[in-house]
Amino acid sequence: MDSKEFRKKGYEFVDWVAEYLEEIEKYPVKPPVRPGDIKNQFPESPPEKGERIEEIFEDFKRIIVPGMTHWQHPGWFAYFPANNSPESILAELLTAGMGAQCMVWATSPAATELEEVVTEWLKQLMDLPRNWAGVIQDTASTATLCALLTAREWVSDFEVNEKGMVGKYTIYVSQEAHSSAEKGAKIAGFGRENIRYISTDDRFAIIPEEVERAMIEDQERGLRPTAVVATLGTTSSGAFDPLEELGKICQRQRTWLHVDAAYAGPAAMLKEKSHLFRGLENADSFVFNPHKWLLTNFDCSVYFVKDPELLTRTMSIDPEYLKTAHDQEVKNYRDWGIQLGRRFRALKLWFVLRSYGASGLRAFLREHIRLGELFTNLVEEHPGFELMAPAELGLVCFRFNDGVLEGEKLDEFNRELLGRINARGEIFLTHTLLREEFILRMAIGQRKTTEDHVHRAWQLIQEEAEKLRER
Ligand SMILES: *Cc1c(COP(=O)(O)O)cnc(C)c1O
Repeated sequence: MDSKEFRKKGYEFVDWVAEYLEEIEKYPVKPPVRPGDIKNQFPESPPEKGERIEEIFEDFKRIIVPGMTHWQHPGWFAYFPANNSPESILAELLTAGMGAQCMVWATSPAATELEEVVTEWLKQLMDLPRNWAGVIQDTASTATLCALLTAREWVSDFEVNEKGMVGKYTIYVSQEAHSSAEKGAKIAGFGRENIRYISTDDRFAIIPEEVERAMIEDQERGLRPTAVVATLGTTSSGAFDPLEELGKICQRQRTWLHVDAAYAGPAAMLKEKSHLFRGLENADSFVFNPHKWLLTNFDCSVYFVKDPELLTRTMSIDPEYLKTAHDQEVKNYRDWGIQLGRRFRALKLWFVLRSYGASGLRAFLREHIRLGELFTNLVEEHPGFELMAPAELGLVCFRFNDGVLEGEKLDEFNRELLGRINARGEIFLTHTLLREEFILRMAIGQRKTTEDHVHRAWQLIQEEAEKLRER
């Protein structure tokens, strides 16, 4: 493709994206496709001769788009949001255009320094400790793995990196922790057997006394408590683990405190929510995802550490071919994570932070929280529905329960209800289990979701529940 055609197609593609976002409500949020439906439409072998971009673009529109789940749809209430924004999309285009690989300072000085700048800005915006240092990772899963690896090295005095795992190291998470903690613990060599799933209180937050009790028991058995992975905003219900108590316990037991705030992190920008983050200064590491609720298209996960020296000592490698003249004066982010090659993720985040500004971001978050409160009230006022967990932000856990059905029948009803709601194609919700009960999750946080969308969703939910009840 020559430069002239690139321009022409570039404008066309931007037009397509703009139209897609404008008209996104014409698509079903979740495509009505079955496994294999998409794959079957492709030829078995790659083309021998290059094809024209028009043809490829036609197939994109004909095959790919109808087979996509539309995360930017305002009827998106599933999982958590994964917002983009026009600003972030355009920045991503620039990133792709430059095609830089940002492994060390010398391979892209501006990318490295901008990453320092945006993570510093986030510290101010979110009122995080000023002595923390930040790095952008692909996902929270990776950041949590980094935390567990660093904790392992810190506790073992960097012995595991040298000799491999000798002895047994243990991890503490709540029963509500995200699966990435388990995955990280497995990858980091702790072993699933050495993860302690601590019970939660009536708000689904970890019970700190039980954490300490488990640690002491483990020590008595000759095991080495290594890290607590606490969650601010659990995936199932948005519960907040109490960091003040956990921080004290971790200090007493000389254990690492990692805080996973993948979804809820941005709420730290709001004064009225600061109580939820109390004790965060005790954390050794902290992760949150701008790619969830902060308008920055996937992927972009920000990882902060109290002592970067521990992270880089855990991760650093120093082959001759990667040495540069500036290594003493600059940050080489290759030593701040798992991968060597790195994307330029700071650019889109910088565009977002500048375009919205602190007040724009706060207003954006507050609107979703307001809609969450509104939906909570609708549920609470309806005799046929009940709220199943405290809703601090935009995530509301609820279910149908008119007091007639019980136990498995009630679960079955709600499962069927969810299927029917989603089959309408206008909205998309997902479920979870809380204390073994089937619960619907309404996660409000899509950029284009308005009050009207929330009311419409509530109407659909009630309609489907009534139809199902009358059956
Ligand atoms: C979404 C989520 C994760 C996983 O995030 P990735 O960036 O996809 O790895 C981890 N923890 C919590 C609490 C989450 O909500």
